[in-house]
Order: sequence, then structure tokens, then C-alpha cells
Amino acid sequence: MKRWRCKACGYVHEGAQPPEVCPVCGLDRSYFIRETSVPGNFLRELREVFLLHPVSSHFPLALLPVSALAFVLLRITGDAFYDRAAFYALVIVSLAVPVVLLAGLRDWQRRYDGAPAPVFFIKRALALCLCALVWGLCLWRAMVPELWIRGGLPVWCTFFLYGLMLCLVALLGHFGGKIVYRWTLADKRD
Ligand SMILES: [Zn+2]
Repeated sequence: MKRWRCKACGYVHEGAQPPEVCPVCGLDRSYFIRETSVPGNFLRELREVFLLHPVSSHFPLALLPVSALAFVLLRITGDAFYDRAAFYALVIVSLAVPVVLLAGLRDWQRRYDGAPAPVFFIKRALALCLCALVWGLCLWRAMVPELWIRGGLPVWCTFFLYGLMLCLVALLGHFGGKIVYRWTLADKRD
């Protein structure tokens, strides 16, 4: 039995020919390539599986909630330590997000052949929004050091922005997972 893999979403089809249309992402059969990788070859598998994008994306994924938590603790305790903690974590997030975005574009070109599946466009749009929000909040706090201590409207804006950014990070993770895992689930349902 031959194995055919969709370059766009990773869906694997077994049969003499690739399917007319990918049942997962809907692209035509020209996106299917013959799967020839030998299972059990660790180094080859590592080279195929290790990608900068999923690895680097854990930095904003982990540090954004830490920054948001420090901000909440600052508002509860009034301790300036949490003000710096929230800001420094946000600075690291703002440095990591462009790396994640560029690595994602690179992986999309390299691994998925720049396939025009909608999920990639959604991810790109969400990532650009996240980038703008993280940089916006970071620069605002850098220019106004007492921004989160004074209270009032800027604090509510910051709460809102953290909520929005966390939603974006969660959605980006969700769509990333969909690209990587959906074919596995589709395979198991058959
Ligand atoms: Zn596909």
C-alpha cells in the first residue's frame, strides 16, 4: 500500500493513488506527495519534526499569562515588584512574537509549500494583530512608567488588552494544533 501525504495539512492517505481532494483541507491532488520516510530513523525524524516555529511559540504562550498574572497581582497588592515583573515579561514576549511570526512564515513555505489553505491566512492575520497589540502595550508602558500604578482608564485598557492578547494566543495555538493534529484525528475516525 502506498502512502500519500498532503503537503498543506499533513493528512496521510493510503492507496494506489492520492485522493482527488484532500478530505481535511480541501486542496486538490497536486498537493499530495508520496510518503517515503522510514519510520524509526531518529535523526531523520528529528530533522523533519524540529521546527523553530512550534518551539519559539512557547515563549509568548508561556510568558504572556505570567505577565498578565503579575499585572493582576500589581493591582491587588500595589507592590511595584509586580509592575516590573509584568513589564519585563511583556518585553520578552514582544521580542519573541516577531521571531515566531517569521519562523511560522518560513515553515509554511518550507514544510507546506506556501499552500493557500485558509487556516494559514487566519493564523497570519491573528499573529499580526497579536504583534501590534504586544508592541503597542509594551511601548505605551515604556513611555509612561507609572501607567499601571496610577489606576484609572489606562489600567482598564491594559486589562482589556491582556484579555484580547490571551485570546489571540489561544486561537493561534488552536489553529496550529489543527494544522498539525487534525489529520491524525481524521485518520483515527476512519
Ligand atoms: Zn490537506
